[in-house]
Amino acid sequence: MEDVEHIEKEMKLIDANGVRLDGRKYNELRPIRIEAGVLKRADGSAYIEWGGNKVLAAVYGPREAHPRHIQDPARALVQCRYNMAPFSVSDRKRPGPDRRSVEISKVISEAFSSVVFKEQFPRTSVDIFIEVLQADAGTRCAGLTAASVALADAGVPMRDLVAACASGKIGGVVCLDLNKEEDNFGDADCPMAVVHGTGEVVLLQMDGHLTYDEFQKAMELSLGAADKLFELQRDALRRRYSVTLEEILREAPPAAPAPPPEEPREFEQMPEEPGTSPDSDKELPEDDFGPEGL
Ligand code: UDP
Repeated sequence: MEDVEHIEKEMKLIDANGVRLDGRKYNELRPIRIEAGVLKRADGSAYIEWGGNKVLAAVYGPREAHPRHIQDPARALVQCRYNMAPFSVSDRKRPGPDRRSVEISKVISEAFSSVVFKEQFPRTSVDIFIEVLQADAGTRCAGLTAASVALADAGVPMRDLVAACASGKIGGVVCLDLNKEEDNFGDADCPMAVVHGTGEVVLLQMDGHLTYDEFQKAMELSLGAADKLFELQRDALRRRYSVTLEEILREAPPAAPAPPPEEPREFEQMPEEPGTSPDSDKELPEDDFGPEGL
């Protein structure tokens, strides 16, 4: 314990110029990349890389809820399973659910439950799977942000996209988007999910302590980050669904032009048998004996 306290005191998470260990300023996000529609078998999916985090989200449904006794006759259930792969962290994580993953699954389900139009799909379930492949703090926010894109990709009707980002306190300074070292050795971490458009907060947690003013500052930073995240989410969906003319042509080459409609057939005269026409006594021209002649 003393060792940890010693490391915490020695470790300068943010220097006098306000520069953090990874070179960011207090209000900067880590690099983020989102891709929509990455899994063929899911109804909707997305992949996000957020700093050192790599997270996949898959969505199924709305589909009939099983077992039947969990069905709600008035609305759909929104269920989430957050899972960390054993190889996603430096110390191998024991496979399977634990208290932390059950808690994260619950808060993410509740966040989406307030935006999905559940009343449109009674007795069904919308299932969200979040798989953390590599973790570097902020995985619940990365997973939720990707899951929102996956829900949109699956065509699940919802009020708007949801984006999440944590803010916290390191070395007495309120900072945006803490990485693993900052999360472990910092003073506080406060993940927050926001509905774009309304600014409604649908997930808010806190690990550590912040004063009222610090919390206001943290909220301001996370709300600003949510706007940037929304743009990345929207761009990912646009890339997924914008198709060029060449792509359309490659998928389905144009059918051969249809033949023009047939003209109504006039009465066709049968060729006359030689000798049956009234002019048959007329002499046939010489070249009528064929190319070789007689
Ligand atoms: N972590 C870990 N082992 C675990 C759980 C978490 O190494 O069993 C690390 C992981 O990098 C995670 C970070 O601790 O991203 C912070 O975890 P926290 O519970 O704060 O959730 P998160 O910030 O990822 O949403």
